[in-house]
Amino acid sequence: MAKRVESPSSINTFKQCQRKYYYQYVKKLPTIPNIHQIRGNIAHSTLENLYDIDVSLFNEENYETKFKEAIQKLLFFYWKKYEPKLKTLNLNKDQERFYFEETMLMVMNWINHFIKEIDKLMKEKNISLQEAFQQLTPIREQKYVSDNYSVQGFIDAIHLIEEEVHIVDYKTNANFEFKDSIKLQLAIYSLLYFEKHGKLPSKVGVFFLRHKLKLMNVEEELLELAKREIGLIHSHTSITEKISDYPRCITPLCKWSTGKCDFYEVCKPHK
Ligand code: SF4
Repeated sequence: MAKRVESPSSINTFKQCQRKYYYQYVKKLPTIPNIHQIRGNIAHSTLENLYDIDVSLFNEENYETKFKEAIQKLLFFYWKKYEPKLKTLNLNKDQERFYFEETMLMVMNWINHFIKEIDKLMKEKNISLQEAFQQLTPIREQKYVSDNYSVQGFIDAIHLIEEEVHIVDYKTNANFEFKDSIKLQLAIYSLLYFEKHGKLPSKVGVFFLRHKLKLMNVEEELLELAKREIGLIHSHTSITEKISDYPRCITPLCKWSTGKCDFYEVCKPHK
């Protein structure tokens, strides 16, 4: 049986519940769109495209206001663009307004940090606003695929800061913590980066959009974690596709007060 190309999400799904992995990646049953995914996509597109705006007319007097206006416009644009998908969720007007405003607060929080970074860089290096903007612009939405490990990932932002490389993922999570699933995702990105460039990134981390940037150093043990988890999943999924080999893991993540697992109806964990 050929090795499937895994990703941080597929591996984390496997670790959470093997039956869920089976439905999603072996049977390829459709997942159900939800507001958290859609608004996550909207926030990602907004931040990604902020770096493409024309800043030639920005100056030291107006740049704060101009950046804030630009990100608001981008959020409006992408919210509108995703309207057909948002409609499928059947949110009422109040719910949609709540999520829109919450997302606006997140991107405004992010732009406030970005403005501080621009300001700091201009002062430290005595460079123009346009030069600082260009230096802070990361490589964005980069796809990395490893044939060797049979794994792939999309990296949100790769910052080249003098001699250092920082890999950053954006998250809308309420919690400001590196839980195990995030650590594994960052470990896989580090491994993919190392394999392609022959150099470890200096730091990896997450910009928690409700909070701030959180980074950690990349040590050899992070790569070992990625290799171990990738090896474990392949050793299981490349030898069997029988449903009975993918047991249910029944936890509160099957069904909670406001939602349920995408495969709850087919899985019937409580019957
Ligand atoms: S409903 Fe629960 S047991 Fe079933 S696939 Fe989902 S998470 Fe796993």
